[in-house]
Amino acid sequence: MSGKSFFVDLTRCTACRGCQVSCKQWKQLPAEKTSQRGTHQNPADLSYNTIRLVRFSEVGDGDDFKWLFFPEQCRHCVEPPCKMAGDSMLEGAILHDAATGAVIYTEKTKELDFETVRGACPYDIPRQDPVTRQLSKCNMCIDRVEAGMLPSCVKTCPTGTMNFGDREDMLKLAQARLAEVQAKSPKAILVDADSVRVIYLAEVDPKSYYKYLGDAAGPRGLTRLALFDKVLGPLRQMRG
Ligand code: SF4
Ligand code: SF4
Repeated sequence: MSGKSFFVDLTRCTACRGCQVSCKQWKQLPAEKTSQRGTHQNPADLSYNTIRLVRFSEVGDGDDFKWLFFPEQCRHCVEPPCKMAGDSMLEGAILHDAATGAVIYTEKTKELDFETVRGACPYDIPRQDPVTRQLSKCNMCIDRVEAGMLPSCVKTCPTGTMNFGDREDMLKLAQARLAEVQAKSPKAILVDADSVRVIYLAEVDPKSYYKYLGDAAGPRGLTRLALFDKVLGPLRQMRG
């Protein structure tokens, strides 16, 4: 399998949020109205205008206390379930770029049923503009990548957490770093590395970072296989 991939080394993330800000700047997305919720995570969730979010979680007590940081974005799935759901309603609304593997939402996504597309995503990524009905998420900074540049988040990250390049190179980098981290933290894993193009290295159980970091179940409890039974099958029957 060729194309591009990210390698995201969560052991190096300091939650500086430079990537979150640079994503907004490059995409010219407006700020969110937020409130104090007793956490440094801000805003509370992804939205149509916040397609990249650094999540904070606290685990353990006393000497075992740990802060875990998770810069969340679309995983650019190798076989994207959101596109399968989109295609069952309107082909061409969600694109899959052959050269890079980027999954790209077009303006036509406003014609799709949002809950079906969101329910198809194992990582609960898609969001909708409440006014235009258009759907959004990370598009791999496809304009930058096609011009030979790094995605904005990768270019900005000062710690080496965010890496991007040819898939084979990223997998090699990820495996080498995993071996280093496992020497100290034997439970460290590469999350869903075979099925996504955004490969996270998690030092502890992925669910400790965020419930949708790993692909155990989608937001509506749907696994990828169940997606076909519960969502795509009935839709296809309705279309005759
Ligand atoms: Fe689609 Fe979700 Fe996969 Fe992104 S992570 S390509 S939104 S299914
Ligand atoms: Fe983490 Fe890098 Fe983003 Fe800072 S810029 S929050 S270190 S991924």
